Amino acid sequence: MKLFLSGEIVDPENMAAADIVIIGGAIVGSSIAYFLREEGFRGSIALIEQDPHFTFSATTLSAASIRQQFSIAQNIRLSQFTLGLFRDLKTRFGEDADIGFREKGYLILASAAGRSVLEHNHAVQRAEGAAIALEGPEALHRRFPWLNTENIAAGAYGLEGEGWFDAHAWLALFRRALKERKVDFVTGTVSTIAAMNGRAAGVGLSSGEAIEAGTVVNAAGPNAGRVAALAGLALPVEPRKRSVFVFEARDRFDDMPLLVDPSGIYVRPEGSVYITGGAEPHATDKAADPKDFEPDWPLFEEVIWPTLAGRIPAFEAIRPGRAWAGHYDYNTLDQNAVIGPHPDMRNFFFCNGFSGHGLQQAPAAGRAIAELIVHGVYRTIDCSAFGYERIAEGKPFRELNII
Ligand SMILES: Cc1cc2nc3c(=O)[nH]c(=O)nc-3n(C[C@H](O)[C@H](O)[C@H](O)COP(=O)(O)OP(=O)(O)OC[C@H]3O[C@@H](n4cnc5c(N)ncnc54)[C@H](O)[C@@H]3O)c2cc1C
Repeated sequence: MKLFLSGEIVDPENMAAADIVIIGGAIVGSSIAYFLREEGFRGSIALIEQDPHFTFSATTLSAASIRQQFSIAQNIRLSQFTLGLFRDLKTRFGEDADIGFREKGYLILASAAGRSVLEHNHAVQRAEGAAIALEGPEALHRRFPWLNTENIAAGAYGLEGEGWFDAHAWLALFRRALKERKVDFVTGTVSTIAAMNGRAAGVGLSSGEAIEAGTVVNAAGPNAGRVAALAGLALPVEPRKRSVFVFEARDRFDDMPLLVDPSGIYVRPEGSVYITGGAEPHATDKAADPKDFEPDWPLFEEVIWPTLAGRIPAFEAIRPGRAWAGHYDYNTLDQNAVIGPHPDMRNFFFCNGFSGHGLQQAPAAGRAIAELIVHGVYRTIDCSAFGYERIAEGKPFRELNII
């Protein structure tokens, strides 16, 4: 077969083939490859990654936290699947597997204006079996005496199944498992996607090499919209810059959960320091320059720190440390994942647009894609609500709890 990419016929010397080509080898791509093997797929898998040390991937630049506190049941189920993996980590990944899971909960605070949404979300979470306590300001202050509950009408606190972990270790476990499962790691940038007769036929790399493919999966994170466009497909996923700031404080609060202020600002302990972020102004929150990883220091100084000092008076005196910025894989339609094939190109699959919760949802989403490819149906979690059809129809399936 001759593969045409950008109108060029590829020299057969530069041509390889794989039954499944996955574009993007961070947590989502690695998880898809892992579960393809778990589901019994025996064909060849090429996992293509342009940044083999994952210096700029959302996976390694994330805040690495997991929660049950979503507004829709399907998102809770995706995260609960990961929680099951956390509980079973050593059986699945080996005795030395350790991702440093700190099960300290989330505390999501609501003002009077946000109370009914918090209550609605809490009911959804309880129905899914999540152990979340909904408490008023007095109870919250008794539980966390360091918290200023002024202007707080209620808070939802995760009693179990929520917390944070080490994103690098999490990714490394999957990558290591793939080495034993005969997955081809390809270093390169996918710059073209060939399509023929309504099917994806293969990908071209910027090096000039090409890989013929039976199935193509888009796991390109914040770059997923651009990768879809290479196949002539529209996907409303774009990079949105998110800064994370590290600071030291005199007081240590060992009981501190990941706290989310009604303003959207979050803070949590990270070892002996704290990390914080959130509250990017809606009006200026636009697609990021893919090369811009400069933290937004004015956001910290003018918005985040004053808000934190109001909510936790001990944080009036802190010592700011380093900071970093990463890109959310932001779905502009409804801030939710897009999982499944394109209706008009059935062998091109999306696993994109997680909008800030993809690290914790990657295993369930990866398994879902693997089940679809291998069995043709979802077996573990029904992800049809995340399908591309809603994108094509412009009908949002909206998640309200975006942090
Ligand atoms: C600051 C921040 C905080 C976050 N906090 C959390 C959190 O607490 N909990 C949570 O669950 N999620 C969080 N997220 C979101 C989470 O990190 C992402 O949803 C998740 O990592 C997406 O994984 P991915 O593998 O799809 O994307 P990525 O990790 O970005 O990986 C995509 C990979 O594709 C590669 N790629 C892209 N284009 C090409 C191409 N053309 N050719 C070859 N390779 C390509 C890239 O190099 C990249 O390595 C956060 C994100 C950020 C930025």
